[in-house]
Amino acid sequence: MKFHRDLYIAGAWRAATGSTDLPVTDCYTEQVFASYRSASRSDVDAAVQAARAAFDGWSATPLAERIAAVRRVAAALRERSDAIARVISREVGMPARLSARIQAGAPVAAWDLYAEQAARIEWEQRIGHSLVQQVPVGVVACITPWNYPLHQITGKVAPALLAGCTVVLKPSELAPSSAFLLAEAIAQAGLPPGVFNLVHGSGPEIGEALVTHRDVDMVSFTGSTRAGRRIASLAAQEIKRLALELGGKSAAVVLPGADLAAAVKATLGSCFLNSGQTCSATTRLLVARDHARQAEQLAADLAPAWAMGDPADPATRLGPLISPVQRDKVRDMVHAAIAEGAELVTHDGPLPPHGFFYPPTVLGQVTPQMASAREEVFGPVLAIIPYDDIDGAVAIANGTDYGLAATVWGETPQAALAVARRLRAGQVDVNGAPFNPLAPFGGFKRSGIGRENGRFGIEEFLEPVSVQLPSSFFDTP
Ligand code: NAD
Repeated sequence: MKFHRDLYIAGAWRAATGSTDLPVTDCYTEQVFASYRSASRSDVDAAVQAARAAFDGWSATPLAERIAAVRRVAAALRERSDAIARVISREVGMPARLSARIQAGAPVAAWDLYAEQAARIEWEQRIGHSLVQQVPVGVVACITPWNYPLHQITGKVAPALLAGCTVVLKPSELAPSSAFLLAEAIAQAGLPPGVFNLVHGSGPEIGEALVTHRDVDMVSFTGSTRAGRRIASLAAQEIKRLALELGGKSAAVVLPGADLAAAVKATLGSCFLNSGQTCSATTRLLVARDHARQAEQLAADLAPAWAMGDPADPATRLGPLISPVQRDKVRDMVHAAIAEGAELVTHDGPLPPHGFFYPPTVLGQVTPQMASAREEVFGPVLAIIPYDDIDGAVAIANGTDYGLAATVWGETPQAALAVARRLRAGQVDVNGAPFNPLAPFGGFKRSGIGRENGRFGIEEFLEPVSVQLPSSFFDTP
C-alpha cells in the first residue's frame, strides 16, 4: 500500500508548493519519523476552487449514490485500519491496543454509521403551502486537531459529504498521517474529483487562508478555544457558517448514595484516557465533603495501575503526551495548583527513559475558584473538589467557562437524571452509561457552537430552504 505525502486536490495527488517541511515526531522515541511539505496559499486556492467546481454536481447527486460512495470510503478505510492505528499511536502516543479500537476502529465504523443516518433525515417536508428542503451549505473547510485525528476528521468530512457539501480538509500538523490515508481511501472509493481535497500546513498560515477564502461557505473547526475564537472572528467578516468543537472542563458529579468506587474508577478512566488529552475528559470529580477523603484514597490506590511505557507494549496504559511543550505546560499547572493550596494525592512514576511523559496525577481539596478547577489541563490530572449540597454541586459543575460533557452518579438512575437535567453540558452520562455515537456531541459556552455525530452532525451542514407554492400545486395528483 502506497503512503502518499502530497496534497490531494481535484482528484489527483500533487506536490505541495509551500516553502516549509513540517516534521512529525514519535512522542515516545522523540524522533522525527515523517515529514510533510506545507501547502502554499495558491495550493489552498486550487483546493477551494476544486471544491467549488465540484459542488453543483455533488450536491445534485442522488442521496443513495452519496451514501454508497461514503460506504465505499468506509470499506477502503477498513483495509487501512492497522496502518491508521499504528501511525496515530506513534503521533499521539496512545497505547496500541486502545489505538486500534479508539483511533482506528471507531472512526472507520463511524463512516458507515453516518451513511445509515443520512437516510433518516427529512430532506423535504410540506409545511402548509411550503415545501421545506434541506440543502447543503456549500464548500466546507474542515480544520482538525491532533488528539483523536481520524475521529475528528470523520466527524466533519463524512457528514459534510453526505449532506452534499464539498470539502477541503486541513488536519493538524502534529498528527496528519491518517488524513493522508483517508485521502487514499477516498481516491480508491472513486469519489468525483474535487468533492474531497486535502491540504496541509500550519494553522496561522494555511488554516487562516482557508477560513478567509471567499469561496468557503462554512468552517467546521475542532481544537482549542484560543484558535476557535480567532477563527470565529475571521469567519464573522464574511458571515460564514461556523461549527466549533472546543475545549472542556467536564465534571463527574457523585451524589450521596452512589457507588463511589465505581465512580472514581470510571472518572479516572475518562480523565487518563489518551494521557488526559481528550476534550470531553471528566477532569473534575465532585464529591460530597464527607466522602472526599475516601474518594482521594480510592484514586490514590487506582492511579498507579496506569502504567507508563512504550505505547507498543501491551502492558502500557498511559502513553506520552503529544509534545515537550504540552508536558511542561501540564507540569506548570500542577505546580500552580499546589501553590494555590491543592493537595497532591498521587503523582507516581517511574518515568520511562524517553518520551514526553507526565505521571498519572490526582489533586485533592481543590476549590472551585482555583485555576486547576477551571482551566483545561490536557494532561493526566484529576481535580477532586468537595461540595456541600446538591445545589452547590450543580453550581460548581456549571461554574466554568466550558460546557462540553459531564457524568452524574446516583443511587438510582432516576436520582442522577434529576441532576443531569440541571447541567449545562452537551452530553451527560449517568451511572457509567457508555458513549453513543448516534447522540449529539458538542458544547455550551466556550466549548463551542453546533453538534456532531449521528443525524445531528449531518444537519450541521444543511440549510433549510422554503419554497412557497400556490395551493393548486398540492391539489395536482
Ligand atoms: P489547536 O487549536 O492548536 O489546533 C487545531 C487545528 O486548528 C490545527 O489543525 C491547527 O493547525 C489549526 N489552527 C490553529 N490556529 C489556527 C488559526 N488561527 N486559524 C486556522 N486554523 C488554526 O488545537 P490542538 O492543540 O490541535 O487540539 C487541542 C485542543 O482541541 C484542546 O483545547 C481540546 O479541548 C480541543 N478539542 C476539542 C474537541 C471537541 O470536540 N470539543 C475535540 C478534540 C479536541
